[in-house]
Amino acid sequence: MCRHLGHVGPRPVTLASRVTEPEHSLLVQSYAPADMRGGGTVNADGFGVGWYSGSGDAGALTAHSYRQPVPMWTDGSFLDLATAVTATAFVAAVRSATVGMPVSTGACAPFRDGTRIFSHNGVVRGWPDSLADLAADLPTETLMTLEAPTDSAVLWALVRRHLDAGKDPADAVADVASRVLAAAPGSRLNLLLLTRDPATGHPTLAATAVDHALSYRCGDDGVTVASEPLDPDPAWTAVDDLRLVVVRDGTVEVEPL
Ligand code: GLN
Repeated sequence: MCRHLGHVGPRPVTLASRVTEPEHSLLVQSYAPADMRGGGTVNADGFGVGWYSGSGDAGALTAHSYRQPVPMWTDGSFLDLATAVTATAFVAAVRSATVGMPVSTGACAPFRDGTRIFSHNGVVRGWPDSLADLAADLPTETLMTLEAPTDSAVLWALVRRHLDAGKDPADAVADVASRVLAAAPGSRLNLLLLTRDPATGHPTLAATAVDHALSYRCGDDGVTVASEPLDPDPAWTAVDDLRLVVVRDGTVEVEPL
């Protein structure tokens, strides 16, 4: 069951500072995860990072992403670049493909649409039939142009539709997680969304915990939310099940879904 993390801070940090360098970095979690719960032993079916570079001021920030359908540890160029690329906010993921779902670049989180960056850690039970009613509301064009035939790609389309309609990003992930859980009981739905307010330039990071591991840590260089703590620091706080974590303007709020 994939692993992911999101980070938002007051100034740029290297991707490596969260993704590859810590004692229990996402890189380590790709081959030695500690809390998989839903089965699977490694997260070797691909990886990705989506990030904001620039100062964070309105208009001065751009979004980028990098994904590969290979184990992170095999991409030496990425491991090198991660030490040089700095970002004020980012989402990274390593993937363990759900049985029956393809291994391809388009199936790797995070998915990105402009400055909206999304990851799903888990599985939708009974997919695809269980999502049929919810997906029926999506425009045909959206369904025909999904990046991959996976549960995560459909969840991303559902979240994006809310964002396009002007819904608050935290409300968007909470609504999708709740409605999918109702339609497909037993699903594991750790969603993670990074967005940027176009007017202020301020980022929002929203994460759900639904039957999967999630922790967060606040520090001087920002807030990190991760499937598994990146190191033994006691400042990591485990998130209870069925919670929504919202990071805005340096503060963290945890509320029931
Ligand atoms: N079900 C999703 C996929 O196959 C996520 C996988 C996971 O969390 N293990 O991409």
